[in-house]
Amino acid sequence: MKSLRGKTALVTGAGSGLGKDIALLLAREGAAVGVADIHLPAARDVVSIIHASGGEALAVSMDVSDEHETEAGTASLVSRFGSIDILVSNAGIQIVSPVHDYTLTDWRKMMAIHLDGAFLTTRTALKHMYAQQTGGCIIYIGSVHSHEASPLKSAYVTAKHGLLGLAKVVALEGAAHQVRAHVVCPGFVETPLVKKQIPEQALELGLSEEAVVKSVLLAGTVDGQFTASSDIAQTVLFLTTFPSAALTGQSITVSHGWGMR
Ligand code: NAD
Repeated sequence: MKSLRGKTALVTGAGSGLGKDIALLLAREGAAVGVADIHLPAARDVVSIIHASGGEALAVSMDVSDEHETEAGTASLVSRFGSIDILVSNAGIQIVSPVHDYTLTDWRKMMAIHLDGAFLTTRTALKHMYAQQTGGCIIYIGSVHSHEASPLKSAYVTAKHGLLGLAKVVALEGAAHQVRAHVVCPGFVETPLVKKQIPEQALELGLSEEAVVKSVLLAGTVDGQFTASSDIAQTVLFLTTFPSAALTGQSITVSHGWGMR
């Protein structure tokens, strides 16, 4: 028996990296999946993979920082499959620079995608979930940087800390409607987002790329290993299928031990 049969999930930033693997796993578990991305061809490719394996999915063109696109995209998913039961707010970017050089344009872009995006998709998902009266689950993809700081990442660290607050408020307000909320906090996963920052950090810090991987990215892990995107997808699946509000409002770190207390 597939654990998400009859459920509909919206995954943002699902055309690549973590979002793609989360979308594929939720679809394999029987969910109809809205594959939302600002880059529509990438979303369509993921939908093709899901359709080829017998699953249900819809490509959704969505800039998560745009109020109209988040509402219209979510409505199109509900219109196609009849409900939205799971939101995975995953879309994200990285811009690295020391604080004294960080431009206001870049700062606002980071806040718009990470925080406006999480808020806008949450607001529209909650309206549908509350009206459906069948509960739901909202997962924010945070980061170890929801708890820790690193140099050069002021906007990212600020935004990822902010998701913890949003998830806790959604857990509180959603409880009366059987809606749960969590933050999943990955360590470094080798996705395009991370591969792009290795040469950038090497330049900023005056290190080789190998040194950035070993002594910056993976230095805090117990075993020097990258986290796999499948580890994140499995954690999302576990949280979405958990049956009660015994587990809500939590931050779960998946990082080979980086950031553990
Ligand atoms: P990625 O670059 O592989 O994928 C990000 C996706 O988001 C892309 O498909 C991109 O087109 C999409 N996107 C970007 N801006 C968007 C917007 N405005 N609206 C909709 N879609 C948009 O990145 P990833 O590594 O898979 O990161 C996904 C999430 O995981 C991010 O929130 C990131 O901060 C978080 N995260 C990643 C890592 C890691 O090591 N890769 C670690 C911790 C947290």
